[in-house]
Amino acid sequence: MIYCKNCFYPSTKPDLEFNKDGICNACVSFANRKKINWKKREKDFQKIVSVVKKKRIGDYDCIVPVSGGKDSTWQVIKALEYNLKPLCVNSRTCDLTQLGRENLDNIRSLGVDVIEVAPNLKIRRRLNKIGLLEVGDISWPEHASMFTIPFNIAVKFKIQFMIWGENSQNEYGGPKFALENKSLNRAWLEEFGGLLGLRVEDLHNHYNFQIDELSPYIYPKNKELKKLNLKSLFLGHYFEWDGYRNAIDAKKYGFKFNKTLVEGTGVSYENLDNFQTGIHDYFKYLKFGFGRTTDIMNNLLRRKLISKNDAKKNIDKHDGSFPYTYLGENIEITLKKIDVSMEEFLNCCDRFTNKKLFKCDNSGNLIKRKYGVVKKY
Ligand SMILES: [Zn+2]
Repeated sequence: MIYCKNCFYPSTKPDLEFNKDGICNACVSFANRKKINWKKREKDFQKIVSVVKKKRIGDYDCIVPVSGGKDSTWQVIKALEYNLKPLCVNSRTCDLTQLGRENLDNIRSLGVDVIEVAPNLKIRRRLNKIGLLEVGDISWPEHASMFTIPFNIAVKFKIQFMIWGENSQNEYGGPKFALENKSLNRAWLEEFGGLLGLRVEDLHNHYNFQIDELSPYIYPKNKELKKLNLKSLFLGHYFEWDGYRNAIDAKKYGFKFNKTLVEGTGVSYENLDNFQTGIHDYFKYLKFGFGRTTDIMNNLLRRKLISKNDAKKNIDKHDGSFPYTYLGENIEITLKKIDVSMEEFLNCCDRFTNKKLFKCDNSGNLIKRKYGVVKKY
């Protein structure tokens, strides 16, 4: 495991590349932002907005996909600043929390319409279980539908413009060809949408789902999108992205932070809307040896909002802790809803633990990492 010389990303992170000085490409992309003419990008965005408003065929100028989180709140604020009339589209998280509910309701109070799409819960829970046990990702259906649902709504409402947040490859590192990508389309979704090789066709062929039961997880047909001539862009290409600033701005517009630090993150403004996210992030740690705290601390570190020392302390403290409780809910309750027992879960943790990074000690119940120890469960 090699670490970036500048931040705390390890070489085990999928798609991360290092330059000859040992700097990861998330850090390189961030440094390159200084060279970007942001005034010009802002003008480019303004031009797109004028064309969009002129050519509008439906009742709305654009779609803003929203979770109700700090970033989507910021996207809506920005869209309104540019006099756009957005239809905000929410794809329900797998296990919505009360705080997530409140933050999503807050989006409407900004003066926009919101469509919430909440797919069949029986199907969703089966998909959570399959995702967890088969590919080690409980959040598979959430990640699939958060991308497919806004596109399907765009087709239904004839909306030709869609505004996403950050380009996650630019922010968190990725392969070269994707770092400067400004649009989110089907090719992006298939490459980076977090589907881990589990496709909708597999669910139909091997797990007894009817295709129409899976419609919220299916991207519209290419010819439908082509006919619509949809422009689907990352706002982060036009405005310098800063998650922390977004959180502070969103707060001024009614977005609520958690009262305490969110487990496994080291902050109180991320991952507020789904009881299952602690499990999702824990599996990332077991597979790759780093967790969500590393992502967040790296973002703060690159922006000089935290010292390297304090970032390291937070990572050591929060990454890899077993998600006994998450946002106030006990893990056994969270698992019971998707019909997974604690024993099944622990076996699954062991199956997806990267044995090159972690090993069991003699007592068998403490996982040791080559470069440290995972907290005991
Ligand atoms: Zn780095």
